[in-house]
Amino acid sequence: MDAEPEKAADEAVTEPKSLRHLAQAEEGCTRCPLYRDATQAVPGEGPSHAAFMLVGEQPGDKEDIAGKPFVGPAGRVLDQALHDAGIAREETFVTNAVKHFKHEMRGKRRLHKRPNNYEIERCKVWLDFERSLVKPSTIVALGVTAARSLTGRTVTIGKVRGKPIDMADGTRLVITVHPSALLRIEDEDERRAAYRSFVADLKAAVAASSHGTARIKAS
Ligand code: SF4
Repeated sequence: MDAEPEKAADEAVTEPKSLRHLAQAEEGCTRCPLYRDATQAVPGEGPSHAAFMLVGEQPGDKEDIAGKPFVGPAGRVLDQALHDAGIAREETFVTNAVKHFKHEMRGKRRLHKRPNNYEIERCKVWLDFERSLVKPSTIVALGVTAARSLTGRTVTIGKVRGKPIDMADGTRLVITVHPSALLRIEDEDERRAAYRSFVADLKAAVAASSHGTARIKAS
């Protein structure tokens, strides 16, 4: 179990004027304890007005070191799935619900730990700023942490995946699994089926995008 979260002062956060300023603010963030053991904050990456925003959980080991989102094994799955869904990654804005890598040491290895609701809530301010700066027409939530941050509730992925949801600001939200979940499936047939479902969810996001089709490559 996690230790009792430290009670960070609820200091005011000034709205950044650009993604560069936002990345600087994230790097200096101490709103929850996760900054202490991470190498750096990992800001979102992509065009400043991308029609598509992909939101993952948090940086992994490789992302923490590189300072870039989705550059590890899950990122390779995501890249392939985006390609197969006809989405150009370089035309999407890719980010995470939580900006610092949460982990525990097991010997010399840093093992991923899922962020808790407190950490997700504390980090939401940065995701909200990314949304207000980029203004995507469609957001894809990759996994339960992203879905929790974007909807404010805990969802069962199997019940909501691939079904477009209208958010209060008019953005379309599509929820699907996190690509790291595919890496944990040992049976090859099951993994292939799960991959096809993941690509189908991404295609559903393309179909749900009312304004972003110009930025989506035909499959
Ligand atoms: Fe701040 Fe988010 Fe990092 Fe916590 S995880 S310190 S809220 S940037």
